[in-house]
This record gives sequence, C-alpha cells and structure tokens, in this order.
Amino acid sequence: MVKHEAMLYERLPDNKVRCNLCGRRCLIKDGGLGFCRVRKNESGRLYSLNYAEACAAHADPIGKKPLMHFHPGAYVMSIATVGCNFRCKFCDNWAISQEEDITGRYFPPDEVVKAAKEYNCQGVSYTYTEPTIFFEYAYDTAVLAHKNGLFNTFVTNGYMTPEAVRKIAPYLDAATVDFKGGGDPKFYREFSSVPSVDPIYDSLIEMKKQGIHIEITNLVVPEIGDSMQRIRELAEWICENLGADTPFHLLRFHPDYRLTTIRATEVKTLEEAYKVSRDAGLNYIYIGNVPGHKYENTYCPECGELLIERYGFGIVRWNLTKDMKCPSCGTKIPIKGKFHREGFAFPSPII
Ligand code: SF4
Repeated sequence: MVKHEAMLYERLPDNKVRCNLCGRRCLIKDGGLGFCRVRKNESGRLYSLNYAEACAAHADPIGKKPLMHFHPGAYVMSIATVGCNFRCKFCDNWAISQEEDITGRYFPPDEVVKAAKEYNCQGVSYTYTEPTIFFEYAYDTAVLAHKNGLFNTFVTNGYMTPEAVRKIAPYLDAATVDFKGGGDPKFYREFSSVPSVDPIYDSLIEMKKQGIHIEITNLVVPEIGDSMQRIRELAEWICENLGADTPFHLLRFHPDYRLTTIRATEVKTLEEAYKVSRDAGLNYIYIGNVPGHKYENTYCPECGELLIERYGFGIVRWNLTKDMKCPSCGTKIPIKGKFHREGFAFPSPII
C-alpha cells in the first residue's frame, strides 16, 4: 500500500483534521478514519490509503457510464478503488464499494494511461465506486491522461465539494452524476445514509460553471423511489440550472445487496417517468438498463428523426451530419467530441 498525503484537508488543533473532499466534510481525530474508510488521520496529517490500489480496470464503451452526448462510440479505460462515501442498500457494486479492507492491485497513473493507449481507448473513466474517495489517484491520472491526449470522465454520486470540483475541473471533461429516488432527501437518508442532498446540487452548479459536460442519471426504485412528482421536480431543476439539453437517464432498478425484496422497475413506470421529464422541458431523455428499448435512442427534439440508434451500450446506426446536425431539419444536436466510428469493440477486464 502506498501512503499518499490527501488533497483538500485542513489541519486543526489537537491533531484533528477536516476533510473537504466530499459533502460530509468529516472531522477526523488522530488515528481515525473518514466515513469512507479510505482516508486516515495520522498525527494530524490526512492520508489516502487507497492511492493507485485499483480493484477494477476495464476498457468499457462510453455508453456504459452512461454518456450519450460525449464522444459517442469511444472506449474508456475505467478504474476504481475500494470505498465509498455513501452506504446504498441497493448498490450493485457493493462488493467493492463497501469493502472494509484496502484490496486491489498497484496500478499507478502512468500504467493506467499506458493501458488506455494499448486498449485503444480515447479516455479514462473513474467509476464503479465513487471517484471522490480516490481523488488523489484520479487527479494524478487525469493530469497524465490529458498530457497524452486522452479525455477524463467521472461517474459520481455528485457529493463532491465545490473546492474538489474546482481542483479537478481543468482535467475533467465530463461527468455522469447519479441520482437515486428522484433526489428525495428521505430516500437518501433511509437507503443511502446521506444526511443532506444539498451538496449534490452545489457540486452540479460548480461543474456547470467550470464547463464540464454533465449527464444526469436517476435510479427509479419501485415503491420507495419512483414518485413522479419527485422526478418532475428533478427534471425541472435540471432544466433551470443545467439547461434543457442536459441528457437525463432514467435507470431501471434491479434488486441487489440488501434490497432484494423489491422487484425490478416496470418498464411502464420508466416510460411514465420519460413522459414526465419531457413535459418538464428536457430535450434528451433516455431509458437505461432496458436493452432494445426505443428510448435508448437519440431523437431530434424538433422533428422526431431517429439520430442515433443504440442497443445496450453500443451504437447500431449513426444518422447525424458531420457537423452534428439532424439530417432532416438541420437542428444542431448538442454532442461534445467526435463520433468514434471505429470504436474498439470488446470490453476487457484488466484487473
Ligand atoms: S472523502 Fe468524504 S467521507 Fe471520506 S473522509 Fe473525506 S469527507 Fe469524509
């Protein structure tokens, strides 16, 4: 294990420290760990215990993140370490996010970038667990990735502080920010052990200010997190604060970890949520985790033309002009980066 001094913390009297990486802003006494269990106060200095200890590394299609309006067709070297600042009872990556021991393989930033090139990836993604809790590792890798012509993307619960967003912003090109249960504070308290949802909105505002490409997901959980009113409010907030062109993904829930008594989301519930989000003013809404559904596709918001046909994480047909316009009515479609037609096509586990 490489002990690496943490970024963004304050030293306080009596050898205490305040971590300012995520919205919890843990006050940690000498010898103690943060809520995420991967940051330790040793004699008044905060250390990241999971630096470069990768528990997963895969070449993934960018549609898996999901990012639909950013370098479509690209592949991203996707890395994670153990740990999380949430305790979601339904986490589908719980085996690594809730692991209490620091397990993984030493995979330093230069090797990540080398692997990304070798596997024909166009970017690096910090994902599977929460990148905020392996921030130093992500930051060093992101700097090196940019130097080597690769882009960087976070898949995050959005619980970063504005300071953390500003720190990573020069190197962070895109972020998928994952909501659960429509952002209902009660849902977050009961099922994710998160005391307040406010930091998520603050970090999104900061990401927008910093020019980071943002896509939002919302996990629609039957019975406990599928209120159409909440989904409408979230969609309206996105419209007002991030823009009507922000892609919004409605994700199907599958029973997992400690929430196995709740059934998978009915497709008709997702379709209702799609309609509610469209009525709230959003232009690009997707249904996720339902391979083959027509709302995996991108349609022109003006004339309804099918622009990008997808199946699961892959692109089946591309029907946009070279300058990203609808071929039927000429509407400019907000897509950052180019279409990677050549997309290297077999996801590969490295770790
Ligand atoms: S990253 Fe968040 S949970 Fe972890 S120590 Fe810092 S403030 Fe606490």
